[in-house]
Amino acid sequence: MPTADKGRPMHFEFATATRIIFGEGKAATLPELARSFGVRALVVTGAARERAAALVASLGAESFAVPGEPTVELVREGARRVRDAGCDVVVAIGGGSAIDAGKAIAAMATNGGEPLEFLEVVGKGRAIAALPLPFIAVPTTAGTGSEVTRNAVLGSAEHGVKASLRSPLMLPRVALVDPELTYGLPPAVTAATGLDALTQLIEPYVSVRANPLTDALCVDGIGRAAGALRRAYYDGADCDARREMAIASLFGGLALANSGLGVVHGFAAPLGGRWKAPHGALCAALLPHGMAANVAALRARAPQNPALERYTAIARLLTGRGDARAEDGIEWVRALCAELKIPPLRAWGIAASDLPGVVEEAGRASSMKANPLPLTGEELQRLIEAAW
Ligand SMILES: [Zn+2]
Repeated sequence: MPTADKGRPMHFEFATATRIIFGEGKAATLPELARSFGVRALVVTGAARERAAALVASLGAESFAVPGEPTVELVREGARRVRDAGCDVVVAIGGGSAIDAGKAIAAMATNGGEPLEFLEVVGKGRAIAALPLPFIAVPTTAGTGSEVTRNAVLGSAEHGVKASLRSPLMLPRVALVDPELTYGLPPAVTAATGLDALTQLIEPYVSVRANPLTDALCVDGIGRAAGALRRAYYDGADCDARREMAIASLFGGLALANSGLGVVHGFAAPLGGRWKAPHGALCAALLPHGMAANVAALRARAPQNPALERYTAIARLLTGRGDARAEDGIEWVRALCAELKIPPLRAWGIAASDLPGVVEEAGRASSMKANPLPLTGEELQRLIEAAW
């Protein structure tokens, strides 16, 4: 594993959910867990509401469905529901959309209810001051890691972009990760969310903010995802593969929340804001091209940058070969995306004429600041053309 730069001071900080509970069947403990925080729960679900029906009934809870990716408007409505029904705890069961929505609702319920006051980039970026309601996150996909992050990504119909509500106070009180909840995911969702998880392990590992604690999580997680994603895709009932992906996803969330992301997520933000494409599918389509652009730029302009050595380490973890070069890792991801039938960006209705505008927005995205080196406008344009 690459070592840190010698002779330079090191500073880092690591924050996560107060408590992480992991294990097959642990979802059964959710009613008791929710009751330990409050008497009236709002249960936020994805489109598949029935998944949480038993919990909602056993808690006598309010339920709130998030049919697509969460928006400012929806969070405003959810916060109103919490206040009208007098809820004192928020539980989210679902993919990243439901968890981000629940996280934002728990924060807005105690902070005045208007997300635009607090939203980065398009909003006023005010700091969240009041402690959110206790929030329990229960992921049903293995991809976003949102159960252990401090931000919620919200779309704004009015602005046509996505931006984050972010505060250390928004870290969930409990992350309850039960791999059994992912057994029923269809192959296409397994592929997209799984490649998002892999992206969220690769980008923090080469990030300018990487630290030894997140490095350990990334190295472990990349190895697990490399071995398990194909198996989970072909056989959704493969318990070992599902467990490995659940761990990889959790580790990706821990890593990104503390070390940041990079160019792939820099593009996914504006794309996801303007087109109705799942976040994971966008990251998957961009990942091999983001890696290729970074490796090429590092070789050309910064061959001494430790990120290059890290891309070699990634290639060795992915391919299982001790002599692999950085480029072999890119090839491995490219082949995996083809095998898992990841559609190119144009499949989501993005036109070639849209690309220059997307490049401009991606250049300003917060994830871009953690990329191992700044990429030029021309490099970004070539990257997105290759993913298109
Ligand atoms: Zn992601």
